[in-house]
Amino acid sequence: MINVILIAPPSAGKGTVSEYLVNNFDYSHICTGNLLREEIKKNSKIGKEVKDVMSKGLFVSDEVIFTILEDKLSNVKGSLVFDGNPRNVTQAEMLIQLFDKLNINKPCVINLDIDKELLLKRIIGRRICPNCGRTYNINFEGMHPLEGNLCKDCKEPLIIRDDDNVETFNERYQAYMDNTYPVIDYLKNQGFKVYTIDVNKELPKVFNEVEEIISEE
Ligand code: AMP
Repeated sequence: MINVILIAPPSAGKGTVSEYLVNNFDYSHICTGNLLREEIKKNSKIGKEVKDVMSKGLFVSDEVIFTILEDKLSNVKGSLVFDGNPRNVTQAEMLIQLFDKLNINKPCVINLDIDKELLLKRIIGRRICPNCGRTYNINFEGMHPLEGNLCKDCKEPLIIRDDDNVETFNERYQAYMDNTYPVIDYLKNQGFKVYTIDVNKELPKVFNEVEEIISEE
């Protein structure tokens, strides 16, 4: 299967689409946000360095991102889905160099397009299992956790991510528009194939479109 780079504003569904690819097509999930959260959990040197920056919704330095990314990419097999990277044009350039260095096949780009209001509703309702990472949403039918705010798999009490609040969302959305959105054109100009999916609709329709794209490739 073709490698995929997902580009989208915060909470547009990069994690959900990645999960779909991992569970149904055996992709490896390359998510810099998760890798950073793991560093924080371990209380490592990198973890201590990035904790504050992340809780404010700001970008972690490109150097730190590529240290953890190269480490991860040196140890994965199969098709890859990039979630949360590249976040800016410099990271896109660095990633292309890393593809060459590690002999990684050129991915296609899937741009998830969504309204800002819907994103905010998602952010405010998002709940996460601290044990398995499964995501729920109290604002959407069909995404509710067990009664008492518990994970359906682990029965753990769910948590709210530090950066899931209105103020941080606005910061992150603006950072997306200023830094990440231009990556789409940059990659297009570098010869990457770019697809856009409107993700204001129900998930099964989104998944169908994703499947069509990866089967076409
Ligand atoms: P995410 O889980 O993708 O929403 O990322 C959560 C936070 O991790 C972001 O708000 C940034 O602080 C940081 N982060 C994740 N990926 C990157 C990246 N590629 N470049 C810079 N910061 C990142």
